[in-house]
Amino acid sequence: MTTKKALITGLTGQDGSYLAELLIAKGYQVFGLVRRSSTSNLERITHLYGDIQIVSGDLLDQSSLMDVVSECQPDEIYNLASQSYVPLSWTQPALTAEYTALGVSRLLESIRRCKPDARFYQASSSEVFGQPDESPQTERTAFRPRNPYGVAKAYAHWMTVNYRQKYNLYNCCGITYTHESPRRGTEFVFRKITHAVAQIKLGLTNELKLGNLDARRDWCYAKDAVYAMWLMLQQEQPDDYLIASGETYSVKELVECAFDCVGLNWQDYVSVDPAFYRADEPVQLVGCIEKIKMGIGWQPQYSFNQLVELMVDYDLKKLSS
Ligand code: GDP
Repeated sequence: MTTKKALITGLTGQDGSYLAELLIAKGYQVFGLVRRSSTSNLERITHLYGDIQIVSGDLLDQSSLMDVVSECQPDEIYNLASQSYVPLSWTQPALTAEYTALGVSRLLESIRRCKPDARFYQASSSEVFGQPDESPQTERTAFRPRNPYGVAKAYAHWMTVNYRQKYNLYNCCGITYTHESPRRGTEFVFRKITHAVAQIKLGLTNELKLGNLDARRDWCYAKDAVYAMWLMLQQEQPDDYLIASGETYSVKELVECAFDCVGLNWQDYVSVDPAFYRADEPVQLVGCIEKIKMGIGWQPQYSFNQLVELMVDYDLKKLSS
Protein backbone atom coordinates (compact mmCIF):
# COMPACT_ATOMS: atom_id res chain seq x y z
CA MET A 1 0.00 0.00 0.00
CA THR A 2 1.37 3.42 -0.89
CA THR A 3 1.67 6.00 1.84
CA LYS A 4 -1.01 8.67 1.68
CA LYS A 5 0.14 12.26 1.61
CA ALA A 6 -1.65 15.11 3.37
CA LEU A 7 -1.04 18.83 3.30
CA ILE A 8 -2.23 20.89 6.27
CA THR A 9 -2.46 24.66 6.34
CA GLY A 10 -2.65 26.15 9.82
CA LEU A 11 -0.36 23.40 11.08
CA THR A 12 0.85 25.51 14.00
CA GLY A 13 -2.63 26.09 15.41
CA GLN A 14 -4.59 23.96 17.86
CA ASP A 15 -6.43 21.93 15.22
CA GLY A 16 -3.46 21.68 12.86
CA SER A 17 -1.26 20.17 15.54
CA TYR A 18 -3.89 17.59 16.60
CA LEU A 19 -4.70 16.71 13.01
CA ALA A 20 -1.00 16.23 12.22
CA GLU A 21 -0.72 13.83 15.18
CA LEU A 22 -3.75 11.87 13.99
CA LEU A 23 -2.49 11.59 10.41
CA ILE A 24 1.02 10.59 11.48
CA ALA A 25 -0.48 7.86 13.67
CA LYS A 26 -2.41 6.67 10.62
CA GLY A 27 0.80 6.42 8.59
CA TYR A 28 0.39 9.51 6.41
CA GLN A 29 3.27 11.53 5.09
CA VAL A 30 2.34 14.96 6.44
CA PHE A 31 3.29 18.30 4.93
CA GLY A 32 2.60 21.49 6.85
CA LEU A 33 2.30 24.82 5.08
CA VAL A 34 3.97 27.45 7.19
CA ARG A 35 4.41 31.08 6.29
CA ARG A 36 7.62 32.83 7.02
CA SER A 37 7.55 34.84 10.19
CA SER A 38 10.26 36.74 12.02
CA THR A 39 9.14 35.21 15.32
CA SER A 40 8.73 31.46 15.77
CA ASN A 41 5.19 30.19 16.27
CA LEU A 42 6.02 26.50 16.16
CA GLU A 43 5.60 25.64 19.86
CA ARG A 44 2.53 23.43 19.35
CA ILE A 45 4.40 21.19 16.91
CA THR A 46 7.97 20.93 18.23
CA HIS A 47 7.26 17.33 19.30
CA LEU A 48 6.38 16.49 15.66
CA TYR A 49 9.50 17.87 13.99
CA GLY A 50 10.91 14.53 12.82
CA ASP A 51 7.54 13.36 11.49
CA ILE A 52 6.36 16.26 9.36
CA GLN A 53 7.76 18.16 6.44
CA ILE A 54 7.42 21.92 6.71
CA VAL A 55 6.80 23.58 3.36
CA SER A 56 6.96 27.28 2.90
CA GLY A 57 4.05 29.16 1.38
CA ASP A 58 1.42 31.74 2.09
CA LEU A 59 -2.33 31.90 1.46
CA LEU A 60 -1.73 35.42 0.21
CA ASP A 61 0.53 34.21 -2.58
CA GLN A 62 -0.98 32.20 -5.45
CA SER A 63 2.28 31.00 -6.97
CA SER A 64 3.63 29.69 -3.66
CA LEU A 65 0.46 27.61 -3.23
CA MET A 66 0.68 26.23 -6.75
CA ASP A 67 4.31 25.27 -6.16
CA VAL A 68 3.50 23.53 -2.88
CA VAL A 69 0.55 21.57 -4.29
CA SER A 70 2.55 20.58 -7.41
CA GLU A 71 5.57 19.48 -5.42
CA CYS A 72 3.82 17.65 -2.56
CA GLN A 73 1.08 16.05 -4.73
CA PRO A 74 -1.08 15.55 -1.62
CA ASP A 75 -3.97 13.09 -1.60
CA GLU A 76 -5.72 15.19 1.04
CA ILE A 77 -5.55 18.90 1.81
CA TYR A 78 -6.89 20.37 5.04
CA ASN A 79 -7.28 24.14 5.11
CA LEU A 80 -7.21 25.07 8.78
CA ALA A 81 -5.39 28.38 8.36
CA SER A 82 -7.16 31.70 8.75
CA GLN A 83 -7.13 35.00 10.54
CA SER A 84 -9.52 33.66 13.17
CA TYR A 85 -9.53 36.23 15.96
CA VAL A 86 -12.92 37.94 15.71
CA PRO A 87 -12.01 41.30 17.35
CA LEU A 88 -9.03 41.64 14.97
CA SER A 89 -11.36 41.00 12.04
CA TRP A 90 -12.97 44.35 12.86
CA THR A 91 -9.70 46.26 13.04
CA GLN A 92 -8.13 44.47 10.04
CA PRO A 93 -11.12 43.47 7.88
CA ALA A 94 -9.27 43.48 4.57
CA LEU A 95 -6.43 41.31 5.86
CA THR A 96 -8.99 38.93 7.37
CA ALA A 97 -10.67 38.66 3.96
CA GLU A 98 -7.32 38.10 2.24
CA TYR A 99 -6.45 35.10 4.42
CA THR A 100 -9.80 33.69 5.38
CA ALA A 101 -11.74 34.29 2.16
CA LEU A 102 -9.45 34.91 -0.83
CA GLY A 103 -6.83 32.53 0.57
CA VAL A 104 -9.35 29.75 -0.03
CA SER A 105 -9.93 30.89 -3.62
CA ARG A 106 -6.20 30.71 -4.21
CA LEU A 107 -5.99 27.28 -2.67
CA LEU A 108 -8.94 25.99 -4.69
CA GLU A 109 -7.38 27.30 -7.89
CA SER A 110 -4.09 25.61 -7.00
CA ILE A 111 -5.87 22.30 -6.44
CA ARG A 112 -7.90 22.62 -9.64
CA ARG A 113 -4.80 23.31 -11.70
CA CYS A 114 -2.16 21.16 -9.98
CA LYS A 115 -3.86 18.23 -8.21
CA PRO A 116 -7.55 18.05 -9.15
CA ASP A 117 -8.03 14.59 -7.64
CA ALA A 118 -6.92 15.76 -4.16
CA ARG A 119 -9.59 15.64 -1.46
CA PHE A 120 -10.09 19.03 0.18
CA TYR A 121 -11.36 19.92 3.65
CA GLN A 122 -12.35 23.53 4.33
CA ALA A 123 -12.66 24.63 7.95
CA SER A 124 -15.97 26.49 8.06
CA SER A 125 -17.08 27.95 11.35
CA SER A 126 -20.34 28.37 13.27
CA GLU A 127 -19.56 32.11 13.00
CA VAL A 128 -21.17 31.90 9.54
CA PHE A 129 -24.53 31.58 11.32
CA GLY A 130 -23.98 34.78 13.35
CA GLN A 131 -27.47 35.56 14.49
CA PRO A 132 -29.26 32.43 13.20
CA ASP A 133 -32.97 32.11 12.51
CA GLU A 134 -33.17 28.76 14.23
CA SER A 135 -31.63 26.79 17.02
CA PRO A 136 -30.18 24.21 16.86
CA GLN A 137 -28.62 24.97 13.49
CA THR A 138 -28.35 22.39 10.72
CA GLU A 139 -26.48 22.25 7.41
CA ARG A 140 -29.49 24.02 5.88
CA THR A 141 -29.65 26.97 8.29
CA ALA A 142 -29.17 30.34 6.54
CA PHE A 143 -25.83 32.07 7.00
CA ARG A 144 -26.17 35.47 8.73
CA PRO A 145 -22.60 36.32 9.72
CA ARG A 146 -22.17 39.30 12.01
CA ASN A 147 -18.49 40.11 11.84
CA PRO A 148 -15.84 40.27 9.09
CA TYR A 149 -14.44 36.89 10.13
CA GLY A 150 -17.85 35.23 9.73
CA VAL A 151 -18.39 36.96 6.39
CA ALA A 152 -15.01 35.75 5.13
CA LYS A 153 -15.74 32.19 6.31
CA ALA A 154 -19.11 32.29 4.52
CA TYR A 155 -17.38 33.28 1.26
CA ALA A 156 -14.83 30.48 1.69
CA HIS A 157 -17.59 27.98 2.40
CA TRP A 158 -19.56 28.84 -0.73
CA MET A 159 -16.48 28.91 -2.93
CA THR A 160 -15.59 25.42 -1.74
CA VAL A 161 -19.12 24.20 -2.51
CA ASN A 162 -19.10 25.98 -5.88
CA TYR A 163 -15.80 24.44 -6.93
CA ARG A 164 -17.22 21.04 -6.03
CA GLN A 165 -20.25 21.66 -8.25
CA LYS A 166 -18.51 23.39 -11.13
CA TYR A 167 -15.32 21.35 -11.38
CA ASN A 168 -16.41 18.13 -9.73
CA LEU A 169 -13.67 18.41 -7.09
CA TYR A 170 -13.82 16.33 -3.91
CA ASN A 171 -14.45 19.26 -1.56
CA CYS A 172 -15.98 19.17 1.93
CA CYS A 173 -16.79 21.88 4.46
CA GLY A 174 -16.91 21.11 8.16
CA ILE A 175 -18.78 23.77 10.13
CA THR A 176 -17.14 23.54 13.53
CA TYR A 177 -18.48 25.00 16.75
CA THR A 178 -16.21 26.02 19.60
CA HIS A 179 -13.69 23.30 20.28
CA GLU A 180 -11.23 23.30 23.12
CA SER A 181 -8.10 21.59 24.38
CA PRO A 182 -5.07 22.21 26.55
CA ARG A 183 -3.56 23.87 23.45
CA ARG A 184 -6.16 26.65 23.53
CA GLY A 185 -5.03 30.10 24.64
CA THR A 186 -6.13 31.44 28.04
CA GLU A 187 -7.93 34.34 26.35
CA PHE A 188 -10.74 31.89 25.57
CA VAL A 189 -13.09 31.31 28.47
CA PHE A 190 -12.75 27.51 28.71
CA ARG A 191 -8.99 27.47 29.11
CA LYS A 192 -9.09 30.69 31.14
CA ILE A 193 -11.26 28.90 33.69
CA THR A 194 -9.39 25.57 33.82
CA HIS A 195 -6.06 27.40 34.07
CA ALA A 196 -7.31 29.70 36.84
CA VAL A 197 -8.83 26.79 38.77
CA ALA A 198 -5.47 25.03 38.68
CA GLN A 199 -3.72 28.21 39.83
CA ILE A 200 -6.19 28.64 42.68
CA LYS A 201 -5.82 25.01 43.75
CA LEU A 202 -2.04 25.44 43.84
CA GLY A 203 -2.30 28.68 45.83
CA LEU A 204 -0.94 30.83 42.98
CA THR A 205 -3.96 33.14 42.90
CA ASN A 206 -7.26 33.46 44.73
CA GLU A 207 -9.59 35.10 42.26
CA LEU A 208 -11.11 34.60 38.83
CA LYS A 209 -12.83 37.49 37.05
CA LEU A 210 -15.31 36.58 34.35
CA GLY A 211 -17.92 38.22 32.12
CA ASN A 212 -21.37 36.87 31.34
CA LEU A 213 -21.87 33.67 33.34
CA ASP A 214 -25.13 32.95 31.51
CA ALA A 215 -23.50 32.84 28.06
CA ARG A 216 -23.92 29.38 26.56
CA ARG A 217 -21.75 27.53 24.07
CA ASP A 218 -21.65 24.24 22.23
CA TRP A 219 -18.21 23.00 23.30
CA CYS A 220 -16.39 19.90 22.12
CA TYR A 221 -12.87 18.53 22.29
CA ALA A 222 -10.49 19.55 19.49
CA LYS A 223 -9.29 15.93 19.17
CA ASP A 224 -12.84 14.81 18.45
CA ALA A 225 -13.24 17.63 15.92
CA VAL A 226 -10.10 16.76 13.93
CA TYR A 227 -11.16 13.13 13.79
CA ALA A 228 -14.40 14.28 12.15
CA MET A 229 -12.37 16.27 9.57
CA TRP A 230 -10.36 13.20 8.61
CA LEU A 231 -13.45 10.97 8.52
CA MET A 232 -15.23 13.38 6.18
CA LEU A 233 -12.48 12.93 3.58
CA GLN A 234 -12.69 9.12 3.74
CA GLN A 235 -16.24 8.94 2.36
CA GLU A 236 -17.20 7.93 -1.15
CA GLN A 237 -18.97 11.23 -1.81
CA PRO A 238 -17.89 14.68 -0.60
CA ASP A 239 -20.40 16.57 1.53
CA ASP A 240 -20.69 19.28 4.20
CA TYR A 241 -21.36 18.61 7.86
CA LEU A 242 -21.72 20.38 11.19
CA ILE A 243 -19.11 19.31 13.73
CA ALA A 244 -20.44 20.03 17.22
CA SER A 245 -21.35 18.38 20.49
CA GLY A 246 -25.06 19.07 20.02
CA GLU A 247 -25.35 20.30 23.63
CA THR A 248 -24.83 23.67 25.27
CA TYR A 249 -23.51 24.53 28.69
CA SER A 250 -23.33 27.92 30.35
CA VAL A 251 -20.13 29.57 31.53
CA LYS A 252 -21.52 29.12 35.07
CA GLU A 253 -21.90 25.36 34.56
CA LEU A 254 -18.36 25.25 33.25
CA VAL A 255 -17.11 27.12 36.32
CA GLU A 256 -18.99 24.80 38.69
CA CYS A 257 -17.67 21.71 36.96
CA ALA A 258 -14.05 22.96 36.92
CA PHE A 259 -14.09 23.90 40.63
CA ASP A 260 -15.73 20.55 41.44
CA CYS A 261 -12.73 18.81 39.83
CA VAL A 262 -10.45 20.24 42.55
CA GLY A 263 -12.96 20.09 45.42
CA LEU A 264 -13.43 23.87 45.79
CA ASN A 265 -16.53 26.06 45.90
CA TRP A 266 -16.55 28.43 42.90
CA GLN A 267 -18.49 31.17 44.75
CA ASP A 268 -15.47 31.74 47.02
CA TYR A 269 -13.29 32.81 44.09
CA VAL A 270 -15.32 33.98 41.09
CA SER A 271 -16.44 37.57 40.56
CA VAL A 272 -18.13 39.19 37.60
CA ASP A 273 -16.24 41.96 35.83
CA PRO A 274 -18.14 44.00 33.20
CA ALA A 275 -14.87 44.37 31.27
CA PHE A 276 -15.34 40.78 30.05
CA TYR A 277 -18.93 41.28 28.87
CA ARG A 278 -19.59 41.15 25.11
CA ALA A 279 -21.73 43.77 23.42
CA ASP A 280 -22.95 41.43 20.70
CA GLU A 281 -23.43 38.02 22.26
CA PRO A 282 -24.71 35.54 19.65
CA VAL A 283 -28.09 33.92 20.05
CA GLN A 284 -28.00 30.28 21.02
CA LEU A 285 -25.32 28.71 18.81
CA VAL A 286 -25.77 24.97 18.98
CA GLY A 287 -25.32 22.41 16.25
CA CYS A 288 -27.67 19.57 15.33
CA ILE A 289 -25.36 16.63 14.68
CA GLU A 290 -27.86 14.22 13.14
CA LYS A 291 -26.38 14.46 9.64
CA ILE A 292 -22.79 13.67 10.61
CA LYS A 293 -23.94 10.98 13.06
CA MET A 294 -26.18 9.18 10.60
CA GLY A 295 -24.16 9.98 7.46
CA ILE A 296 -20.61 9.07 8.48
CA GLY A 297 -20.95 7.66 11.98
CA TRP A 298 -19.19 10.44 13.89
CA GLN A 299 -20.04 11.66 17.36
CA PRO A 300 -17.90 13.14 20.12
CA GLN A 301 -16.07 10.61 22.26
CA TYR A 302 -15.49 13.01 25.15
CA SER A 303 -18.33 14.44 27.25
CA PHE A 304 -18.34 18.01 28.53
CA ASN A 305 -17.38 16.81 32.04
CA GLN A 306 -14.52 14.69 30.71
CA LEU A 307 -13.22 17.65 28.71
CA VAL A 308 -13.29 19.94 31.74
CA GLU A 309 -11.56 17.30 33.83
CA LEU A 310 -8.80 16.60 31.34
CA MET A 311 -8.07 20.30 30.92
CA VAL A 312 -7.99 21.00 34.67
CA ASP A 313 -5.67 17.98 35.10
CA TYR A 314 -3.42 19.25 32.33
CA ASP A 315 -3.18 22.73 33.85
CA LEU A 316 -2.53 21.31 37.33
CA LYS A 317 0.33 19.18 35.99
CA LYS A 318 1.75 21.96 33.87
CA LEU A 319 1.74 24.50 36.71
CA SER A 320 3.24 22.00 39.17
CA SER A 321 6.12 20.92 36.94
P1 GDP B 1 -15.85 32.40 21.47
O1 GDP B 1 -16.61 33.65 21.72
O2 GDP B 1 -16.74 31.26 21.17
O3 GDP B 1 -14.76 32.57 20.48
O4 GDP B 1 -15.14 31.92 22.81
P2 GDP B 1 -14.78 32.59 24.20
O5 GDP B 1 -14.19 31.48 24.98
O6 GDP B 1 -13.93 33.80 24.04
O7 GDP B 1 -16.18 33.03 24.84
C1 GDP B 1 -17.20 32.12 25.14
C2 GDP B 1 -18.31 32.81 25.91
O8 GDP B 1 -17.90 33.03 27.26
C3 GDP B 1 -18.74 34.18 25.37
O9 GDP B 1 -20.15 34.16 25.28
C4 GDP B 1 -18.31 35.17 26.44
O10 GDP B 1 -19.22 36.26 26.60
C5 GDP B 1 -18.34 34.30 27.68
N1 GDP B 1 -17.44 34.77 28.73
C6 GDP B 1 -17.78 35.02 30.02
N2 GDP B 1 -16.72 35.44 30.71
C7 GDP B 1 -15.67 35.47 29.86
C8 GDP B 1 -14.28 35.81 30.00
O11 GDP B 1 -13.82 36.17 31.08
N3 GDP B 1 -13.49 35.69 28.90
C9 GDP B 1 -13.99 35.25 27.68
N4 GDP B 1 -13.17 35.12 26.64
N5 GDP B 1 -15.31 34.94 27.51
C10 GDP B 1 -16.13 35.04 28.58
